[in-house]
Amino acid sequence: MRKPIIAGNWKMNKTLAEAVDFAKEVKGAVPSNDAVDSVIGSPALFLASLAEELKGSDVKIAAQNAYWENTGAFTGENSPAAIADLGVQYVIIGHSERREYFHETDADINKKAKAIFANGMTPILCCGESLETYEAGQTAEWIEGQITAGLEGLTDEQVSNLVIAYEPIWAIGTGKSADATIADEICGVVRQTVEKIYGETVAQAVRIQYGGSVNPENIAEYMAKENVDGALVGGASLVPASFLALLEAV
Ligand code: 13P
Repeated sequence: MRKPIIAGNWKMNKTLAEAVDFAKEVKGAVPSNDAVDSVIGSPALFLASLAEELKGSDVKIAAQNAYWENTGAFTGENSPAAIADLGVQYVIIGHSERREYFHETDADINKKAKAIFANGMTPILCCGESLETYEAGQTAEWIEGQITAGLEGLTDEQVSNLVIAYEPIWAIGTGKSADATIADEICGVVRQTVEKIYGETVAQAVRIQYGGSVNPENIAEYMAKENVDGALVGGASLVPASFLALLEAV
């Protein structure tokens, strides 16, 4: 049985005070860790304060990015070792916004995955196709390519512990969420891709999220699907009541 994982991705939103207020409000109200992993994906600026505020609670923290080197002359980047040292458990990598606006490649994302595991954290590896690819009926091939490249050289144990988020670009922030059957089908493609490379045991262990206009009203439809183990949520994760409602619907 795979434990559900619901992660909010705040993207570039909130001030420090707003982030800490959010943490104060949700930390005693989230479901038990035994039932679901509740994760907040915060801008790097607030990670230290959130880690302090959420210490001992059932809320886990994700960074939204990390570099692949631990130290060095990389002005403006964030070290995965320094992020792990704060008590952060997850790092989102390969989000379509980073691929598009910051030109991240599959090879960069693969290096980040390795660095995150090397520092004892878990990557949330994002994949997803454009509207053009979707309309051309090439989603499965596209996703298979992204996943195969993203996982290159990772061990069975690492991939068993990995989280993969399928986020069709056309569904992000648009209110046009993918039909739950389609989300399940493409999360199934992700799982089959993992199975081809790593075999059935690893493929059955890896957790796969759907992301793209998920909200408290539609999350249950996705969670009911065989291949969907959780959600990566942008807009609907920004308000405590909505974040908690997402978790309650699991
Ligand atoms: P929305 O939930 O706002 O569509 O964002 C999805 C997303 O990109 C999460 O990473």
